[in-house]
Amino acid sequence: MGTRGRGIIGGDVDKLIEELNKALADEWLAYYQYWLGAKVVAGPMREGVTAELVEHAADELRHAGMLADRIVQLGGTPVLTPEQWYDLTNCGYEPPEDPYVRTIVEQNIKGEQCAIDTYQRLAGLVKETDPLTYNIVVEILTDEVEHEDDLEAVLEDFELMLKHKG
Ligand code: FE
Ligand code: FE
Ligand code: MG
Repeated sequence: MGTRGRGIIGGDVDKLIEELNKALADEWLAYYQYWLGAKVVAGPMREGVTAELVEHAADELRHAGMLADRIVQLGGTPVLTPEQWYDLTNCGYEPPEDPYVRTIVEQNIKGEQCAIDTYQRLAGLVKETDPLTYNIVVEILTDEVEHEDDLEAVLEDFELMLKHKG
């Protein structure tokens, strides 16, 4: 980014780039977790759940793009190898070993709750020092809150279905 663009950022730019790279690692892992979950998920309501997982995967990939663009703009380098994702991640990765709908949805809810905490913390970090990153972080946070809400609604429908089944 231009000298002035970088100059207006208060605080430690290298530290900020590191935080954004940690979030970038999270987004790739979340993307893959949803993408693979959508392929293997099985059980009642499979079609609706698959559609939701596919949609969320696309959102996580878009988030990765937003973070990488900002890192480059700040003069940083987006994480270069997938091996580093595991070193950098805040929220980790849960392999969809059990394809049952409920298990997959619960794993992803856990991931979203960690993402919400991560972006809430990041928002606080840049609120006073970097309005552009703040806007990006809040936009992503808004999506993560929606993701959690969507998945909790799926879980609720699932429980209701079981309850009224027999
Ligand atoms: Fe995301
Ligand atoms: Fe999400
Ligand atoms: Mg959704």
